[in-house]
Amino acid sequence: MSLLRFSGLLPLRRHLDARRAEGKSVGVVPTMGALHEGHLSLVREVRKQSDIVVVTIFVNPTQFGPGEDLDRYPRTLERDAELVEQAGADLVFAPSVEEMYPPDEQTRVSVSGVSEGLCGAHRPGHFVGVATVVAKLFCAVGAGTYIFGRKDYQQLRVIEKMARDLLFPVRVISSAIVRDEDGLALSSRNAYLNSEERKLAPALFRALSAAKLAYEEGERRPKNLVERARDTIRGAATPTLGFEIEYLELRDAESLSSEIADDKGLVSPVERPVVLLVAARLGTTRLIDNVEL
Ligand code: AMP
Repeated sequence: MSLLRFSGLLPLRRHLDARRAEGKSVGVVPTMGALHEGHLSLVREVRKQSDIVVVTIFVNPTQFGPGEDLDRYPRTLERDAELVEQAGADLVFAPSVEEMYPPDEQTRVSVSGVSEGLCGAHRPGHFVGVATVVAKLFCAVGAGTYIFGRKDYQQLRVIEKMARDLLFPVRVISSAIVRDEDGLALSSRNAYLNSEERKLAPALFRALSAAKLAYEEGERRPKNLVERARDTIRGAATPTLGFEIEYLELRDAESLSSEIADDKGLVSPVERPVVLLVAARLGTTRLIDNVEL
């Protein structure tokens, strides 16, 4: 069957409500478009567990701060539609800004705790924008299995929390980070990197991998694990280019709490899965990555 495309809320609801009434399960992949293999892996993953796969494509203005890249964010809808069809999606929902944000709207969704720190500290208002648009998508698309990438680790935890707290009739699942051959996590923003920056960019993953290796070899002191990664990032700098680290932090993998060590100051692998998260700027491009330990 060929790909169905919707931009209006009501036709989408009518269509999906009728499918659900036939007993079909719905899987949903929320995206901002400019799709790459990372997004397509989510389509394939949710395809395995749903009768109907919906991809939403919406560049959400409220999650961009002043001076961020909303205007230059790549918009490639026609190509995106071809890619998701090949990957096995049944339907694309690509609403306008007016459809998602009625002119006189006054409502925002704010998740505390897990939204604070990390990207939340460096992008004020970002997770309010994310939680708001995802809540709207939950309502627009309706009950189903929603899949998110662990690339945006804090975003995933924020959305899981919101879905539980607000009793949305959804199941939230996640999928592993897809990387280029040299380790760089795929991102629509990688298109901003010039060739010198692109060459340096995989150092971020090398740094996380160095910390993971140290962890696997028995290092359990949080400070040493973080320093191992920091040294790798610093050591990768060239005379003309280096990363500007926004944050590099070890956190509890579920709650994202920074209280991860026991009373001896050590991370316990049994009691506490942890995640090392990084955000860094390379030129004008902001990159994020993480590794679970
Ligand atoms: P975005 O279009 O950037 O909002 O991303 C849409 C979804 O794709 C989010 O759930 C992201 O976490 C996920 N995603 C983006 N890049 C990757 C990647 N390299 N690997 C896995 N998931 C990804």
